[in-house]
Amino acid sequence: MSGRDAQTAGAVLTVDLGAIVANWRRLKSRAGGADCAAVLKADAYGLGAARVGPALAAAGCRQFFVAHLDEAIALVPRLPRDATVSVLHGPLPGSEAEFVAHGVRPVLNSRSQIDAWRALARRLGRRLAAVVQVDTGMARLGLDARESDALADDPGAWAGLRIELVMSHLACADEPAHPANAAQLERFVAARRSLPQAPASLANSAGIFLGSDFHFDLVRPGAALYGLAPVAGVPNPMRPVLRLQARVIQLRDVPPDTPVGYGHAWTSPRPSRIATASVGYADGWLRGLGGRASVWAGAVELPIVGRVSMDTVTIDASRLPPGALRAGDAVDLIGPRCDVDRIAAQAGTIGYEMLTRLGRRVARVYRDGADDEPACGDRMAGEVPAAA
Ligand SMILES: *Cc1c(COP(=O)(O)O)cnc(C)c1O
Repeated sequence: MSGRDAQTAGAVLTVDLGAIVANWRRLKSRAGGADCAAVLKADAYGLGAARVGPALAAAGCRQFFVAHLDEAIALVPRLPRDATVSVLHGPLPGSEAEFVAHGVRPVLNSRSQIDAWRALARRLGRRLAAVVQVDTGMARLGLDARESDALADDPGAWAGLRIELVMSHLACADEPAHPANAAQLERFVAARRSLPQAPASLANSAGIFLGSDFHFDLVRPGAALYGLAPVAGVPNPMRPVLRLQARVIQLRDVPPDTPVGYGHAWTSPRPSRIATASVGYADGWLRGLGGRASVWAGAVELPIVGRVSMDTVTIDASRLPPGALRAGDAVDLIGPRCDVDRIAAQAGTIGYEMLTRLGRRVARVYRDGADDEPACGDRMAGEVPAAA
């Protein structure tokens, strides 16, 4: 994203690539001897896989996971040749040859995906690498117990394939006391006996914090790399990565009893200063945040009043002294004082959804943790004190 985009955009997301790398190192050391991959699906959870991937590769990460083939095709040319990109959904019927053409590794989730991959290997007369996923208690993707037992009795099913990883995914890892965690671990250990011998991977971000039994050979964090709290209810051990700012377009002073916004959902209880800022639900600032969340002008919390519109929010800026906030100034929506997990909870969702909903109009700006230049220009609303 160019500087001009950041200067003219209504909202700017600043992504600290240095913090993402620091989080990857922290998770890798937390996983003991296991290797640490990076999950970059959905454009690295909305942050920009084209920038996050190379930053992690430069730090030594060599295993990357995305959901779709197209995500992998876009990522491969940006990574070192010895990096591996795996596609969690595996090949849709008929797309197998494209995986080979782009050097992308499929995660085989079903007997039919295994059969199609083996058929292509035979046709090409060469061994093809793959990951195999088993379902150990989520009923979403992967071979079920019956399928993997059947495969144990049919070694020909793997002819021409090189299984480089056996993986499964945890349904309840963010609740450490949930009995499903131990049950899935047990099923995973059992399932590996029916499958080709290969390194194993079970843990997502939260799974890394369930203990060394869950680490196996490779861990697959996404959310925690991007600063989301891996475990609910305990202090977040990850470094913050994001700052989301929106610019103020207009301010007005309104008398008491002035209805504000669609549906007149809020009415000023006293003389108030209303600031309208350039971010709305089309930018991923969810409509459910109206009347619930705040923005910050530096250290001053300003409530969002009335409904969130498609392109704007209205903010009660009455706590600031006159002239402290002007058109063109930026306010913080996500940042050190406004944690994305908390805001997501206010909207009735999770940080994952907040991040992946951030819209295309939001300019992405990248820093490497070294400098602290404000992305939204020189004059930050936060540099003014609150009214006494
Ligand atoms: C999304 C995903 C991950 C990463 O999960 P986080 O909770 O974001 O760490 C890992 N493995 C699979 C199979 C996934 O779908």
